[in-house]
Amino acid sequence: MSTELLAAAHAPSAYDFALQNFELAAEALELTECTRSLIKYPERVLTVNIPFRLDNGDIRRYEGYRVQHNTSRGPAKGGIRYHPGVTLDEVKALAMWMTWKCAVVDVPFGGGKGGVIVDPKQLTLPELERMTRRYTAGIAPLLGPQRDIPAPDVYTNAQTMGWIMDTYSMMSAGGYPIPSVVTGKPLSIGGSLGRAEATGRGAFHTLVSACEQLHISMKGSKSVVQGFGNAGSVVANLLDGHQSLVIAVNDSRGGVYNPAGLDIPKLMLHKERTGTVVGFAHAEAITNADLLTLECDILIPAALENAITGENAHRVRARIVAEAANGPLTPEADAILEGNGVFIIPDILCNAGGVTVSYFEWCQNEQHYYWDLHEVENRLERVMNKAFKEVLDIHSDRKVGMRLAANMLGISRVATATTARGLYP
Ligand code: GLU
Repeated sequence: MSTELLAAAHAPSAYDFALQNFELAAEALELTECTRSLIKYPERVLTVNIPFRLDNGDIRRYEGYRVQHNTSRGPAKGGIRYHPGVTLDEVKALAMWMTWKCAVVDVPFGGGKGGVIVDPKQLTLPELERMTRRYTAGIAPLLGPQRDIPAPDVYTNAQTMGWIMDTYSMMSAGGYPIPSVVTGKPLSIGGSLGRAEATGRGAFHTLVSACEQLHISMKGSKSVVQGFGNAGSVVANLLDGHQSLVIAVNDSRGGVYNPAGLDIPKLMLHKERTGTVVGFAHAEAITNADLLTLECDILIPAALENAITGENAHRVRARIVAEAANGPLTPEADAILEGNGVFIIPDILCNAGGVTVSYFEWCQNEQHYYWDLHEVENRLERVMNKAFKEVLDIHSDRKVGMRLAANMLGISRVATATTARGLYP
């Protein structure tokens, strides 16, 4: 088969993109082949079979994964995703991004990620619990407060983390609680105040810094949010609270648009009641494709990977693109947007608020001492502002895009730690 045919048969995955971006940063940092080979590939990859009982007594099975990309700076850290589109390559990419992300905000964790190929909306709550417990039992040999610490991601939440914490505690400690094995737990079993909003709040802090840098007034600016989940709804609410007009938002079922600005608190209530933003009063319907190309100051992709590609990037009319999602831009889209002068706040910086407060939660669990919301939010703001400045400095000093700058910062920290530990045996 010719190389062209081979390329066409194998459409690039998020993992291919992650490797491509790794190589760009490794070149810019002049990393040796030896260092690259130590930090480029996942340390461990586990595939598990997940049989469990449905409510009607039948057995269903799914496949799940846990990938530990790198643990040189600390235990593996990263969410668990339930989605029908999960692939092992996707989980490998997400795990790698977690490694660089933790290093960018300088929290002492490595990178990991988990995923199950499942549409959780098709399961009842008891089915979801049995599936989660069986998946946890499968990946339990990798987990532990000093080894690998899961958290929520797409379509998992605090309740999912509660089941994981309980299953792990039952299996390894006769039920005595081991709260620091997961973060993003319910408050009643050791969760942290401010964790649920942390990804959106962290993204908002990076937007404040970006607006300052570009002399854009947030008050009166226009913003668009793709994805109204945990990250998107929080950042939309904060923008609305700071007088940015949020003119359009969507979720997997469709979008709503109002050029005069949507009433975000009311929209959140509507979503809580109906499960979707679709059908919200005082707004017209808008497709996902049209939403991404609306003229605005701030565009926030807060859903899944590959939202903006070579196909639609040239139609994007935003001044800032803030990646609350992981991997929403392909490298081709990156190049087009950068060429058009769009300021990109890359995912490993923009959405790092989630893992930052996960780190705070883990610290509180390990210390058995709990902080108030004010303390969590202040510390989060300090971490995000410091990381933004460090990435911006590389961007200006080295005259590279913000994504390359963030990758250079994260990857250089991981490379330094790896070199300090040396090569075993
Ligand atoms: N899933 C989130 C992320 O992609 C949070 C990970 C964590 O808190 O460990 O950053």
